[in-house]
Amino acid sequence: MFSERYPEESATAPTQPAREKQDAVAGRSNEMGASRRGTPEQELHLKEFILDKAREAIYLIGPDLRFVYVNDEACRSLDYSREELLAMTPPDIDPDVTREHAQQIHAQLLARGSVTINTRHRRRDGSLFPVEMQGSLFEYQGQMMNVAFVRDITERKRLEDQLAAREREFRSLAENSPDTIARYGRDCRRRYVNPAYAAQAEGSADALLGKTPSERPVYADAQRYEAALAKVFASGKGTEFELKWADRQGWEVCSLIRLTPEFGATGDVATVLAVGRDITELSASRVKIHQMAFYDALTLLPNRALFGDRLRQTITEASRHGQLAGVMMLDLDHFKTVNDTMGHPAGDELLRETAARLGACVRAYDTVARLGGDEFAILLPELRSGDDLGRVATKMLDALSRPFLLDGKQVFVSCSIGIALYPSDSTEADDLLKFADSAMYLAKQSGRNRFRFYSRALTESANERLMLESDLRQALARKELALHYQPKVRLRDGVLIGSEALLRWKHPQRGMVPPDKFISIAEDSGLIVEIGEWVLRQACEAAFAWNGIGKPLHKTAINLSARQFQTGNLVGLVREVLESTGCYPEWIELEITESLLLDEASEVLGMLKAFRSMGISIAIDDFGTGYSALSYLSRFPIDTLKIDRSFIGGIATSSQSAELVKAILTIAHCLGYQVVAEGVETEKQAAFLRAHGCEIAQGYFYGKPMPRPEFECLPLSISG
Ligand code: C2E
Ligand code: MG
Ligand code: MG
Repeated sequence: MFSERYPEESATAPTQPAREKQDAVAGRSNEMGASRRGTPEQELHLKEFILDKAREAIYLIGPDLRFVYVNDEACRSLDYSREELLAMTPPDIDPDVTREHAQQIHAQLLARGSVTINTRHRRRDGSLFPVEMQGSLFEYQGQMMNVAFVRDITERKRLEDQLAAREREFRSLAENSPDTIARYGRDCRRRYVNPAYAAQAEGSADALLGKTPSERPVYADAQRYEAALAKVFASGKGTEFELKWADRQGWEVCSLIRLTPEFGATGDVATVLAVGRDITELSASRVKIHQMAFYDALTLLPNRALFGDRLRQTITEASRHGQLAGVMMLDLDHFKTVNDTMGHPAGDELLRETAARLGACVRAYDTVARLGGDEFAILLPELRSGDDLGRVATKMLDALSRPFLLDGKQVFVSCSIGIALYPSDSTEADDLLKFADSAMYLAKQSGRNRFRFYSRALTESANERLMLESDLRQALARKELALHYQPKVRLRDGVLIGSEALLRWKHPQRGMVPPDKFISIAEDSGLIVEIGEWVLRQACEAAFAWNGIGKPLHKTAINLSARQFQTGNLVGLVREVLESTGCYPEWIELEITESLLLDEASEVLGMLKAFRSMGISIAIDDFGTGYSALSYLSRFPIDTLKIDRSFIGGIATSSQSAELVKAILTIAHCLGYQVVAEGVETEKQAAFLRAHGCEIAQGYFYGKPMPRPEFECLPLSISG
């Protein structure tokens, strides 16, 4: 600027002689008084003063390449006096500039008017320092002069070197990083890719450079990638996301991509750096952990935790949109038997197959979960009506009633299903599960292979059962149980020939609880084993008392539950009780139900044979209510059939019942069974039975079940 204006300025003072001015310029200005525009000489001094204050070294070089003027900074930076410097030429202070070189620069200056070069200057002590020199040429009074502005760039060079080192360092990091690194421009095209990225994606950097994520390589969601890049460019904020893509061999890779904005001089995001870390293994193990935490390993169905989660989600959705949803609990009937008799691999196979069949019964957005054991739960969102649930449940019952092929054998299982409905039964997830569970329990109670909807009344009865069960656990110890005896009479002559021992429970608050209410609870809870043993002992003690030398034979019938055959050593127990009470085997009869005989897998037949060989007689109780045909019974060692009282009640009024009873009597006698008629309440019934050859009768007509002391007062013959 000043160098450009200088000739102009000088042109405004044509009166001043050139030599004088030159001297003045070269002369040292040590006096500066004028602060306002004064004489030309004063003005010249002012300019010199300013030149000396400049931070750059200024050299005025004449056509003979000698210094014509040097400012204070030039002297200071080289540590020479002005006089010394004015006696020098540029090559004296610049080791890189020979006289020839200086002339070349001069020639360049002539051609272009100005030139900027980086070179070195030498101080008095010989030390060198880097400088940037900007030279300009101008004509002064017919002579070409060169003014050089020289700036010490030691600090700048140091910074540049530092920057270059840093750049080298970054490059080395990027080039050797196992992470993939790419730099993207605003157009989403790559400006840089590191070797790791090039190698993993395409084998060469060229295939990636200049390309967008949509173009190469194959990303699962390139659009998302580009949207994320655009967002970083717009917001200036970094972001992170996971991306699946195919490497050059076609393997799926999962990368954690970190996008970082790189700002330009204007403060805008100039480029975005994308660093990708390979988390394929991590992602796989995360999937595995998730699988383990939320899925059942055997059936691959959602587990309880995931089911609960989905149920809560469904409730939230359903409440928002006013929809219905259903929860089902499903339990396989007799799963334990399969597991116990065919082994665990067969049990596992059964569960897997069950899972598959259930899955086929529901819609894609329903959830079938395995809660544990043989317990499944089904979640059915967005229902049109509660009736849909009944239809799905029927479908499931059908699906599971088809035979399963396990271990080469056909196995039949069934299931029990309980259903609860959102929102009518409850709006709470836990309640819905609990209610479906209690409905399922009741489905089991009412004969299995069926479904039941939850209803409050059902729950109340389930709760009642629970309370009874907990009381029953203590009933024996508290001596609340008692045995009553009902007389059995020979129809021919009315002689008392035996009794049936019937259990009674005197509940401290509820009073007398009938066996129909608590025997099934005792069976389900397993308490029947302990209670049954007590009954056996009591009845055998009574039978011992009522039999003996000189007394007519009195047979006491004892009811046994299926559960007693399945648990413990029943035969051993009976033998032990007989021995300890002194009761003879022929003084008792064991009553079992037909259903016990249907379980082919069990060892019932062997046990019955053992009783028979001991001399104990066996009776089939409630005959006619079960499924068995008379011919089927012949395979078992049975002595007595007890015709269920539902048939006896009708013999006088319904010809159908009468015919049935006659038929049973005929066939039973052909097979050699003795027949007991249960529930005989009238003389008419007794007469009918007598007329058709029924041997024994039991019923209110002869006597209700009564406590032992009362029973012992009965006469030897009861005519009703
Ligand atoms: P069950 O073995 O068929 O016993 C006969 C049932 O018929 C008894 O009911 C008896 O009171 C009732 N009964 C007898 N005669 C008549 C009659 O003329 N009219 C009417 N309406 N009923 C009559 P209970 O004592 O209530 O026993 C019910 C069931 O409980 C028994 O049926 C038996 O299956 C079971 N039970 C009773 N005691 C025991 C026991 O110690 N162990 C086991 N496992 N079950 C038992
Ligand atoms: Mg009985
Ligand atoms: Mg009976």
